[in-house]
Amino acid sequence: MALGVVLFTAAGPASAGTVDRLYAIDCGWAHAPDQSRWSPGVNVSVPIDVSNNCYLIHHSNAGYLLWDTGITDRLASLPEGQTAQATGQTWYRTRTLARSLEELGVKSSDIRAVAVSHVHPDHTGNLGLFPEATLIVQRAEWEYGLGLPFKPFNGLQKTQLLDGDADLFGDGTVTVLSTPGHTPGHQSLVVRLEKSGVIVLSGDAVHFQSNWDNRRVPVFNTDRAQSLKSMEKIARILAEQKATLWINHDKPSSDARRHAPEYYE
Ligand SMILES: [Zn+2]
Repeated sequence: MALGVVLFTAAGPASAGTVDRLYAIDCGWAHAPDQSRWSPGVNVSVPIDVSNNCYLIHHSNAGYLLWDTGITDRLASLPEGQTAQATGQTWYRTRTLARSLEELGVKSSDIRAVAVSHVHPDHTGNLGLFPEATLIVQRAEWEYGLGLPFKPFNGLQKTQLLDGDADLFGDGTVTVLSTPGHTPGHQSLVVRLEKSGVIVLSGDAVHFQSNWDNRRVPVFNTDRAQSLKSMEKIARILAEQKATLWINHDKPSSDARRHAPEYYE
């Protein structure tokens, strides 16, 4: 499936189109008491706030694709947030994903496909909002998810399992990159825009700019060697395609980006 058209196979490939809009949507944020969870031995006991975004992509022929769904919308009703016992992180949501989409005039049923970078709850928290969309995930991640105590996949969606890189619309505009290491089937996304150029959405292949600059691997990644290899794979794409890396959880760079209802084209 690495080279094949993945989406909309029943109707054939979307004839070459363009990605005309990329929205970054605020999908929650967290306060973490100790940065060194992501950077072993560095910034020990230094707190950090992390951003979290969902990304809505509009393809001129194929319609809407959502990349990641953020932390659960339920948190929007908890102004004090919710603290995860295991990590000490407190997660918040200023507004719901449902509300953000509504304000863009996008109905849940308009979203043809939802691709998730990986199974963690800050990325899969709102899959239930999109029962009509096709879920796109790596087979290795799907299998990993089945064995977890929390159930990231609710079985509502039609599911397209990938085994590696995939050109989603068959025209090179949106490409899934297999970037395992954070989790066994982690994936990132390469989006080609007419005006803004090529953007790589990191997923959690890297969490912060400083971690990227120093190639740091979080303590809780499932495979350190794979993580380093995946960062090199992304670095190659950045160099070859003069692409820009959007690091999802890096709050300073996320804050500097336009968010919905504004968009990139
Ligand atoms: Zn994450």
